[in-house]
Amino acid sequence: MRPMPFSLVGLTLQELQNFMQRWNEPSYRGDQLAGWLYKTPVASFDEMTNISIRVRERLKQEMILHPCKIETIRVSQDGTRKYLLSLHDSELIEAVFIPEEDRRTVCVSSQVGCKMGCTFCATGAKGFYRNLTAGEILDQILQIALDVGEVPSNVVFMGMGEPLANYGALLKAIQIINAPWGFNIGIRQLTVSTCGLIPGIQRLGREKLGLTLAVSLHAADDEKRSRIMPINRVYGLDELMVALRGYVAMTGRRVTVEYALMAGFNDKMEDAAALARLLKGLLCHINLIPINPIRAGLHQRPRPAEIEKFQAMLQRDGLTVSIRKERGEDIEAACGQLKGEWEGVDHEASW
Ligand code: SAH
Ligand code: SF4
Repeated sequence: MRPMPFSLVGLTLQELQNFMQRWNEPSYRGDQLAGWLYKTPVASFDEMTNISIRVRERLKQEMILHPCKIETIRVSQDGTRKYLLSLHDSELIEAVFIPEEDRRTVCVSSQVGCKMGCTFCATGAKGFYRNLTAGEILDQILQIALDVGEVPSNVVFMGMGEPLANYGALLKAIQIINAPWGFNIGIRQLTVSTCGLIPGIQRLGREKLGLTLAVSLHAADDEKRSRIMPINRVYGLDELMVALRGYVAMTGRRVTVEYALMAGFNDKMEDAAALARLLKGLLCHINLIPINPIRAGLHQRPRPAEIEKFQAMLQRDGLTVSIRKERGEDIEAACGQLKGEWEGVDHEASW
């Protein structure tokens, strides 16, 4: 593997100030750099007009500015934009821009691939390559901001990979997303989605950050969940519920429970009853996701009427439940799908 080039994106204000001081520059140069990186992002060092040409030239020789490069963008009729980005070692990741009336959300990847092997997930099917650096996580947001001309209002860690399995980079990225000298996006506008890594949930709870934790549950009994999510054999549902209650107690924040409906597998009335029993007393909001089939024959989507019945049943038990609105369906916005396609075709011919 080629050594990781030193990228400016991903450095905190303090690190940028220290770095400039090491070059015998005043520390406020670090503040200026932070401005060009996160506030009014630019695509090249040449656009950093208040940095002297001498420093800019040295930066060009010794560093890279952006660790991600856009390979292709797919635009949906509903305005959703899906990006395939390449990294310095040619690995590929995906990020999605989702414009809505009241918000502009970017969905970022946290790893190249994923170790968790969930059966319904295109990313999981391909195995794990490596963790992303904080810079690579942040640069997904920057590449999109440069492309659409604005910094997003919301960031969700729901792209490729398991964010809590890359804890250090995740926290650093969150710090820079939230900092007044960074993207200055409110902590409540951030969501971290996990398959249920309990030590990570506990650790995140202790940080008391006020972000939204989303947990991919997808089944309400251990036997079923273990069949589709191997992690359940390590951290079972009882233990997971204890961790989630602990998270709510530590942060005072309601958690989001993600439940992807798969026809004939977890969409029956008894599944809804089991889910209601499991979640009893937990401060949560349930998000029902019609599954995006990754290949024919495996996990199909229930009919809309079935999904609504499932929702109504949970609501009768006093739970707050929404059905995820489909975004970018026409461009296969489900993470992992675009990368899969890209790797399977001759780019010159098709793109
Ligand atoms: N690894 C984390 C975050 C990335 S996946 C996690 O698992 O939570 C983001 C969300 O997409 C998770 O809820 C995941 O279960 C869901 N997901 C994965 N593949 C899907 C598919 N084919 N259809 C619908 N949702 C899917
Ligand atoms: Fe990994 Fe999440 Fe996909 Fe499971 S659903 S394989 S944890 S990215």
